Amino acid sequence: MSGPIRTILIVGGGTAGWMAAAALQRTLGPHVKVSLVESEEIGIVGVGEATVPPIRDFNVMIGLDEAEFMRETKATLKVAIVFQDWGQVGNRYTHPFGTFGPGPTLGDFQQTWLALQAQDRVGPLGDYSICWRAADAGKVGPRDPDPRSPRNGLFTAYHFDAGLYARYLRKVCEGRGVERIEGKVVDVVQRARDGFVDSITLEDGRSLSADLFIDCTGFRGLLIEGALKAGYEDWSHWLPVDRAVAVPCAKVGPVTPYTLSTAREAGWQWRIGLQHRTGNGYVYCSDHIEDDAARETLLANLDGEPLAETRTLRFVTGRRKTYWDRNVVSLGLSSGFIEPLESTSIHLVQAGLIRLLQHFPDRSFSPVNIAAYNTRLGREVELIRDFVILHYHATQRADTPFWRQVAAMPIPDSLAERVEAFRDRALLYQVGADEYFSQASWLAVMYGQGIRPRMFNPLYGYSDQDRAAAGLRNVSDVFARTVEALPEHEAFLKANNMWS
Ligand code: FAD
Repeated sequence: MSGPIRTILIVGGGTAGWMAAAALQRTLGPHVKVSLVESEEIGIVGVGEATVPPIRDFNVMIGLDEAEFMRETKATLKVAIVFQDWGQVGNRYTHPFGTFGPGPTLGDFQQTWLALQAQDRVGPLGDYSICWRAADAGKVGPRDPDPRSPRNGLFTAYHFDAGLYARYLRKVCEGRGVERIEGKVVDVVQRARDGFVDSITLEDGRSLSADLFIDCTGFRGLLIEGALKAGYEDWSHWLPVDRAVAVPCAKVGPVTPYTLSTAREAGWQWRIGLQHRTGNGYVYCSDHIEDDAARETLLANLDGEPLAETRTLRFVTGRRKTYWDRNVVSLGLSSGFIEPLESTSIHLVQAGLIRLLQHFPDRSFSPVNIAAYNTRLGREVELIRDFVILHYHATQRADTPFWRQVAAMPIPDSLAERVEAFRDRALLYQVGADEYFSQASWLAVMYGQGIRPRMFNPLYGYSDQDRAAAGLRNVSDVFARTVEALPEHEAFLKANNMWS
């Protein structure tokens, strides 16, 4: 069959479903009818709260007003993730957004910094990141697009209530003509000749057909797995956490502009400050701790009164073997789940949507195009997976069976090579244009977890050390002064009509 796509049915209305609806409606405009079916009764996961900076581009792309979006989703700003007790108990480091140092003018920042550090001529790593300094100071401000400005590196993302984000996007989408259908999908009907999905059947007997289906049904993967049997690649041998218990608690004190990730006996706990409450969750490995004990640990480590019952979620880390199969594209949890450590799930919904638009099909559904989408997105996801595994692999903790297991586990060759390259001579590199995490991210986590290069690139030993040291001192001073002048986080949100 050929001809353009005329109808898209999104199945599932969680964060992924409504992000898809917003992006597809906005981009395909009047040419394609976009509908979404969801079941109020089944509900959504709704625990995702932390994001990464490209979400800003997504919100701009779908035409959201930032201040309204922040009020509607109770959002706050995020400049970093702070890791507590990961390398060792008592150790704390920051993974800031943006870069270290002044940018490319001094060459590879880490080489210069390490060369000078060997002579005791530079301050700690955090002095050279504006986002790290802003996290420590509890301050935020607008990023300056001028590359010469110190605030050019001040990248921010959001903490928000993912349930409210889905609800807000629904309101926006319905206002723009996306049809929402309430109903529970009970059957998926495939064409006999090639297995393409023809229609879905709802509990009340209604049948809904479309040219292209987007599976956003969460962990169930109703179409991609239930009907098309795409298969799942299990990564639990690298990422063994498989459950999370979550609870919101009362907000105490000023809201922090960073996610706090604290390593615990059998996993780690998140703490995320929103406008109206603090989100908390313990992500753990059920081989190493019972559900009740995990719940107790979480409740014992809240800084405010719990505001609801705890919720336990189960998952298997990994990815769908094929993200796009025939006329079904999976997005969000139906396409896989790395785990929430680096806040990349919502980002991968966005990445999948951008790739889908770049590889947008017609009704012939070119297998070459579909394969290219799957390869590209698969690579992107694997690079993120490696980065997340690094956090466990590089621990020096040996105090509990969980930490001993992850410290000793085999890692993917792709990750082992990168760790060795850094250990050997502080070499950092990005694998390709589609890799999300930058050299700065790899540096923050490798160095933060205690990996120390044996040497640095000798080239940096030949350079004018006095000049390099003065350059870094200047960067540090400028960042210190710039952060000093930034407003406090809450004051900034309130002054900009972002607080509700
Ligand atoms: P869901 O929210 O599960 O939505 C599924 C939708 O499908 C619902 O609307 C449901 O009603 C519908 N549906 C299912 N079956 C049927 C049916 N039979 N008929 C009709 N409708 C149906 N991501 C981040 O980016 N940052 C984070 O900090 C983060 N933290 C997380 C913490 C945990 C513990 C977990 C588990 C996830 C976290 N995530 C995070 C992931 C994030 O929550 C999800 O990626 C995001 O919410 C998208 O979910 P979804 O829309 O794919 O699935």
